[in-house]
Formats: sequence, C-alpha cells, structure tokens
Amino acid sequence: MLEIVSLEKRFGQNTILRDVNIKVARGELVFIIGPSGSGKSTMLRCCNRLEEPSAGDIIVDGRNIMSGTRRDLDLMRLKVGMVFQGFHLYPHMSVLGNVTLAQRKALGRSRAEADERALDMLERVGLAHKADAMPSELSGGQQQRVAIARSLALDPLVMLFDEPTSALDPELVGSVLKVMKDLKEKGMTMLVVSHEMGFARETADRVIFMDGGVIVEEGRPEQIFGAPKAERTRAFLSRVL
Ligand code: ATP
Ligand code: MG
Repeated sequence: MLEIVSLEKRFGQNTILRDVNIKVARGELVFIIGPSGSGKSTMLRCCNRLEEPSAGDIIVDGRNIMSGTRRDLDLMRLKVGMVFQGFHLYPHMSVLGNVTLAQRKALGRSRAEADERALDMLERVGLAHKADAMPSELSGGQQQRVAIARSLALDPLVMLFDEPTSALDPELVGSVLKVMKDLKEKGMTMLVVSHEMGFARETADRVIFMDGGVIVEEGRPEQIFGAPKAERTRAFLSRVL
C-alpha cells in the first residue's frame, strides 16, 4: 500500500536519511522508534512530499508520487492522511467546520455530503456530540481525535502519525491510542512514529528502529523489544523502557 524505496534526504551538506526502505502492506501497522534527530519526522513528511526527497521513490497504492503531474500529486496527497503532534485545528471554526472544510475544498463535496461524512467520522472517534463545539472547548485528547476524524473524512488509503500523543497530558493519551487501535482493527494501513512502546507491543505488526538516518533493525514487536539484535537498538531501549 505504501512503499518507501531508497529514500534519501539531504539538507545542504547534511544527509538526514540514507537508503531508507519501508514497505507497509494493506492493513498493516508499522511502528517507527528511534532517538531524537534520527530522521523519523523527515521520513514521514517525505511520504506525501511535505518534505521533498533528495532521491528515492514513494509508491502509494502502486503509483509513484515522485513522478507524474502536479495534479496526480495533489490527488495522491489526499490518499496519505497525516496526523501530527499538534492538532492544527482552525480555532475560529466549529468541530464540524474543521472536519468538512478540506472535504469541500479538496474533494469538492457538497455541504450535505461533507457533513454526513464528518458526522460518521466524529462518531468513530467518539465525538459526534461535540460537532458544534469550538476547538478551544475541547481537551487536547479530544482535539487530536477531531484531527484524526478530519483526516479520515478524506478517505485516505494510509494514515501517517507523527507522535500523535506526545503533546497530551498522560490521562488523555489513552483515548487517542484507543482510536488508533480501532482504526487498525478496521483494517487501516498505518505508519506510526511514537514513544508509546506499550501500544507498539500490543498493536504493531512490525517495529522499525531508526538511528542517524538509517534503519538499524526491524522485526516483530516481541523480537525488537524482547531480543534486539543491534547494540544501538539495545542501548536505545534501555534508555526508554
Ligand atoms: P524527534 O524525535 O526529536 O522528533 P526526528 O527523528 O523526528 O526527531 P527529524 O525531525 O526528522 O528527527 O530531524 C532529523 C534531522 O534533520 C535533525 O538533525 C534535524 O536537525 C534535521 N532537519 C530537520 N528538518 C530540517 C530542515 N528543514 N533543515 C535542516 N535540517 C533539518
Ligand atoms: Mg520528529
């Protein structure tokens, strides 16, 4: 569903990502861990060309988003949903307004269609009753769930998450993880950067450890957490677990 092939990213003289190869099959949840500055966010951002790769290919549903026209890129971008640490909701619009805006602007849906889809997605994240609230009236966990609903409303083929819970108070983390677990159970394809190791153990199909812009090792969660092969993985896990 998503294939990252020989991805390389340079900023000036600095090579931030080197020969990164990741395949995420349909319905798979692949988890990325690694120290700060190892290139995790840059890698995710390259997947929809929010960051321009220096080399390599990004293949979404069999189509290479590095080639093709601007219009192809815009269409494929919609197929790659992204949820960040901050929620970036529009503060002056209601929850419903936030979840319908891109549907109407980017997909050309009518107000009625967009509202219906938005309410379905808000239902899915447990917030249909907050459709008319303003973002400032919601907790951080609720705002993040609205951001997830907004992304889902665009019918993505794959969802990328960049530390979706790290800005939240600890008691709010669970509600967001629950939504993500639910998505996985419904068959969504997901690539997740997070420090929630317990969640990774429970839900990830594969865990990838990155350090210094390269993939050091990957495997099933029980292997990576229980019997890491590389010294660098062991050192990292002993610091965070
Ligand atoms: P964290 O866990 O702290 O979020 P990360 O693994 O997501 O870290 P990135 O944010 O991808 O790491 O950054 C990887 C490296 O790329 C860092 O050394 C960072 O300084 C560098 N970098 C990121 N964006 C830019 C940029 N726009 N210009 C120059 N260097 C950048
Ligand atoms: Mg990051």
